[in-house]
Amino acid sequence: MRIRYICEYCHDVIGEFVTDEVDESKLGISNLTDEEKAAIITIDKDNSRMDILSLCDDCVGAIDEETNFNYDFTRRFWLH
Ligand SMILES: [Zn+2]
Repeated sequence: MRIRYICEYCHDVIGEFVTDEVDESKLGISNLTDEEKAAIITIDKDNSRMDILSLCDDCVGAIDEETNFNYDFTRRFWLH
């Protein structure tokens, strides 16, 4: 299974690796509810791939710096 961490806001691939066994505690998702997992995880069984939404450092920084994050998100979208 190929695991990819995707930034929820800018859709950059933050990191990816291949693993034989999906260990939720290693993926950092074991504390999430099923609802939260369903919201951030996309499993593509045909391609043996699992995408996990997260935040890249840039976007974490943007959230910290911008009091109005929605505005910043819109601006980023335009830049892309
Ligand atoms: Zn990002």
